[in-house]
Amino acid sequence: MSNERVMRILMSLWLTLLACFASASPAPAAEDKIDVLIVDGQNNHDWQRTTPYLKGVLEQTGRFRVFVATTPPPNSPKERWNGFRPQFSDYAVVLSNYNGETWPEHARKAFEEFVSKGGGVVNVHAANNPFPDWDAFNRMTGLCWRPAAFGDRVTVDDAGKVVRTPKGDGPGAGHGSQHPFTVIVRDREHPVMKGLPAEWKHPQDELYHGQRGPGAEMNILATAFSAKSTGGTDAHEPMAWWIPYGEGKVFTTVLGHVGGGQPQEQWPMRCRGFQAIVTRACEWTATGKVTIPLPAELPSADAVSLAP
Ligand code: ZN
Repeated sequence: MSNERVMRILMSLWLTLLACFASASPAPAAEDKIDVLIVDGQNNHDWQRTTPYLKGVLEQTGRFRVFVATTPPPNSPKERWNGFRPQFSDYAVVLSNYNGETWPEHARKAFEEFVSKGGGVVNVHAANNPFPDWDAFNRMTGLCWRPAAFGDRVTVDDAGKVVRTPKGDGPGAGHGSQHPFTVIVRDREHPVMKGLPAEWKHPQDELYHGQRGPGAEMNILATAFSAKSTGGTDAHEPMAWWIPYGEGKVFTTVLGHVGGGQPQEQWPMRCRGFQAIVTRACEWTATGKVTIPLPAELPSADAVSLAP
């Protein structure tokens, strides 16, 4: 064997060894945090103030780095939307604070691929309203703000049994007057809900009812009773649920209405129950585990508990 050939073999062995070490070394532990991308930019709610608030709530846990992707405003030219290209795959979880125009094809495809490959999604309040024509979104969100003719409705009866109401029957999406109500945890063993009181008093909020969609593979985590006396449906309506999509998990809570100009003292996002489920859902949909402890103070069956 020529010296040159020996050198080449040694060199290739050395490179193979290097590659082995490189792939065996653990991921850099410098930032042991979960990267969250909040998407906003259009919403019939006060996204300009709630995005920084939600960012702060997430950051206070010490578990996240939070980034924001803002869409173009309504009625923007197509070229502007062409520039909306969030690199979803750079993040572990997307929190949607978005309710507006549909996204261009490239963004929808990128989002679907992100979730399919294991990305997490957390939809907050009106984030289940947009995109009626986007099949994958309807599938992964399960129940959306849609008319009764759009799809099935899913509620829970007094015994805790899931009830499906076929498309066309019963009410479509809506809500009665805003009021404080009780949130009932339906899966106390789920990592996001574990340790929360079985029932908690939630401050004045919109209680969404008649949400519609494919409603497939729904895992209902919490409900609230929608009383006729407040303009509701006389049914236990889902308040928080999750759905598997490919390798990913999609968590939706319809709690958290903040209208334009609504003083922060009145924001239902201040509810420590709401904040616990949103932060823990971000961690859980991203990693499959929950390590974020519950706050020392929590709401009870009789009393709300509000963060600043
Ligand atoms: Zn609302």
